[in-house]
Amino acid sequence: MHPSRSETSPHNEVPSHGETRAGAPSQPVDVTVVGSTNLDVTATVPRLPGRGETLLGTSLVSSPGGKGANQALAASRAGASVRFVGAVGDDDAAAAALAHLRSDGVDLSAVLTREGVPTGTALIWVEDSAENSIVVVPGANGSVTAEDVDRVADAGGLEGVVVLQGEIPTAAVARAAERAPGRVVVNLAPVIEVPAHVLTSADPLIVNEHEGAESLRLLGGEPEGLDEEGIVAALLAAGVPSVIMTLGSRGALVADAAGVRSTPAARVRAVDTTGAGDAFAGAAAARLARGADLDTAASYAARFAAGAVLTAGTQSSYPQRDAALPELD
Ligand code: ADP
Repeated sequence: MHPSRSETSPHNEVPSHGETRAGAPSQPVDVTVVGSTNLDVTATVPRLPGRGETLLGTSLVSSPGGKGANQALAASRAGASVRFVGAVGDDDAAAAALAHLRSDGVDLSAVLTREGVPTGTALIWVEDSAENSIVVVPGANGSVTAEDVDRVADAGGLEGVVVLQGEIPTAAVARAAERAPGRVVVNLAPVIEVPAHVLTSADPLIVNEHEGAESLRLLGGEPEGLDEEGIVAALLAAGVPSVIMTLGSRGALVADAAGVRSTPAARVRAVDTTGAGDAFAGAAAARLARGADLDTAASYAARFAAGAVLTAGTQSSYPQRDAALPELD
């Protein structure tokens, strides 16, 4: 067990109805993201270092990341009121990791601070050719337990659409799916061995091709020999209520009981697609929370994600709330 306290309150209380900061107006929470937050530390190097080698880097940038935090920011920028549930360390990286969420007004009252554990950190080396090496230290992200999720849920902290990914322990993801009060959106990235009920509660399950194939395996299916549409159809047949398979610049497949159809991507000059999948998932969840149907949510998410590939960076490239988004093809 790691000693922990809440980010903003010594008693780890989750305020009801989205009290974000002292004095901030209370509003209902549309989207609760339970997941990871990282600080990404990126050094530019002339070439990747070899074993035992010390190299001089040419630049150093720290930026907030982690799939949970990315999706929370995307949902917020897409117009939802958002709560983020996760864990950080008691270090300087914690505030930096949460900086964009905080400045965007995301409710951080259920973020736990772990003593003696580092905030999740990704150490990234990028060489001039854009080839990179990455070491991810999960730190506090790896300490989130099912009991932590229960405490948040008991205090009414899981509200609205609950959004999950694969960067915190499986038990915490599974418990969040069980305790969600309504719709659950699962982006199984990276793929972790969640119990089948997580996938059969996902409405939608948002995956890329690889994650879709692995999700099917987790449900006892065999993706071998199936094309993308076949995998999506097999996921539905295995009990997933709805599926969105994102296909990069080719757009996405959208599927539910009404069948499988495709949504185009916006035709844009992509500069950096890092975090596009998270932008898509967060934006889709925001629209679903506001009552959009699956197709409308996916189309909006594709426009939002296209807006996120126009500039370098992950969270820093996400469109602002009132930004004009690229139109679909
Ligand atoms: P992941 O990074 O999770 O594999 P994708 O690469 O499929 O995710 O991207 C997610 C979504 O972002 C796509 O469905 C698409 O809507 C949008 N997107 C990604 N890359 C581009 C691109 N080059 N041009 C336009 N839209 C893009």
